[in-house]
Amino acid sequence: MVASQTIAHKAQTETPVDFDAVIIGAGVSGLYQLYRLRELGLKVRVFEAGTGIGGTWYWNRYPGARFDSESWTYGYSFSQELLDEWDWEEHFAGQPETERYLNYVADKFDLRRDIQFKSRVAAAQYRENTRSWDLTLEDGWHCTARFLVTAVGVLSAATLPNIVGVKSFEGPSFHTHYWPKEPVSFVGKRVAVIGTGATGIQTITEVAKTVGHLTVFQRTPQWAAPLHNARITQEEMTHIRANYADIFARCQDTFGCFIHTADPRSALEVGVQEREAFWEKLYGEPGFGIWMGNFRDILVDRQANRLISDFIARKTRERVRDPVVAEKLIPKTYGFGTRRVPLESGYFEVYNQPNVELVDLSETPIERITPTGIKTSACEYEFDMIIYATGFDAITGAFDRIDIRGVDNVSLKDKWKDGPQTFLGIMVDDFPNMLMVMGPHAGLGNFPRAAEYSADWVTGLIRFARDRNLTRIEATAAGCAAWTDHVIETSEGLLFTEVDSWMTGINRNVEGKQVRRIMRYSGGHPKFRERCEAVVADGYQELALA
Ligand code: NAP
Repeated sequence: MVASQTIAHKAQTETPVDFDAVIIGAGVSGLYQLYRLRELGLKVRVFEAGTGIGGTWYWNRYPGARFDSESWTYGYSFSQELLDEWDWEEHFAGQPETERYLNYVADKFDLRRDIQFKSRVAAAQYRENTRSWDLTLEDGWHCTARFLVTAVGVLSAATLPNIVGVKSFEGPSFHTHYWPKEPVSFVGKRVAVIGTGATGIQTITEVAKTVGHLTVFQRTPQWAAPLHNARITQEEMTHIRANYADIFARCQDTFGCFIHTADPRSALEVGVQEREAFWEKLYGEPGFGIWMGNFRDILVDRQANRLISDFIARKTRERVRDPVVAEKLIPKTYGFGTRRVPLESGYFEVYNQPNVELVDLSETPIERITPTGIKTSACEYEFDMIIYATGFDAITGAFDRIDIRGVDNVSLKDKWKDGPQTFLGIMVDDFPNMLMVMGPHAGLGNFPRAAEYSADWVTGLIRFARDRNLTRIEATAAGCAAWTDHVIETSEGLLFTEVDSWMTGINRNVEGKQVRRIMRYSGGHPKFRERCEAVVADGYQELALA
């Protein structure tokens, strides 16, 4: 009986599939995943909704877009040749430079020929009889693949605000994620920006440089700190290149794969003067040191968090001339670092400009968008342009937008309605042969560092299956439950879990995303890798393989 079942299955799995693997997304993780799977000799197709490669760096071309990771820690590490050839121009590269870099990578490794652009995946259905996935694109195009690899990003499902009349404005309006490729001028214009997250802060700072009049609509202020970007000199680049091995090794050792390591001291055990001097130093240095390289307890201990919050508040007060405006810009409902800290380049000084106004929506909420502007509870504003920097349905949003169905037609969206359940953030029970690169429950941080690891792990598993003629890979329900519990456990005691933000799964513009959930692994990347390696060392016995 068992033998004949095996034979029957063999025959069914011999039904030809169009592709060995389909990858959704040609961003940082999708590109690298393609490179790796091609190395295995697999027939791979990438579906990409955009007309070019880059994912985040293709879409987010809003004014001022740049990353907060040091460029030289952000590039791929897998190819020495690539490291030798590519010169970063800025310590924190802007969107055009990063998009150029990813295009360079795609060309160098001849990746484009397997990428199908303007191809948004609408549905993916697992077929048990063939142990493969049926993929349907928005335009109805259809194909089959043994493995479905999602590389859909963490912040790729942009959301407009759920404000009445949002479609009624008659002038130009843009969500920052869908910024046009053509230049947009703000000169002489009355511009509104809604949203003050990392995106809003960058946009506002850049728009303010040339705008006629800018009005910022702020619902929640952000704890932001200076980026201190600079160009990279030739000597610096030579030094960076000589030290790449150390740089990447150091990133591997840190919690979030950034170059910054937490200081082992408690903020409470050092004297006031020493603490202040340390914070002054961090505030004056480039990058995430103030967040990731700070005392070990600022994100877990309320008193330590209060002290660093007070320090940043003082800095903000020093930078904003009008004390009333300064107070509005200082968060009062959550502490520093418990939301993702935006790094800024002159953001607070923007509010010293006579042509910039801050509207605090906690005092005067928006009632509606009108054909000519925005109406708050206090007054009606007229604008020539509205910019929505209102963020994303983060982490699970891009999955929710695809109708993904596994065994017995179970829907992934339904399965995750109360929060994601995964094994290692890579697999989900009931969804055989689906592998997620940087899926929910993966650790967040310096994205390419973590994505390279994730794609390598996925590649290792597919190689293992191929070498043994295995055609069905699934996480067990017990494995998913245990990993999900562990992910929740690692978040306990961290202050960020008590705060509404995209990192805790909140998006007040999306139905069903109003309750905090644990969306990411918080045990740090070294521990994450250790757990993943243990699964490999054990011959993947924790998975159901057939
Ligand atoms: P975000 O942090 O979620 O910010 C969205 C902003 O829009 C918030 O200020 C939010 O207010 C506001 N908003 C949303 N709906 C609204 C409504 N209906 N009415 C009024 N205000 C509304 O999104 P984001 O700024 O796009 O950033 C998301 C993440 O992308 C960042 O945290 C970061 O990880 C990444 N990012 C990175 C960089 C970088 O590397 N430099 C740059 C940009 C983005 P509430 O806070 O009250 O919800």
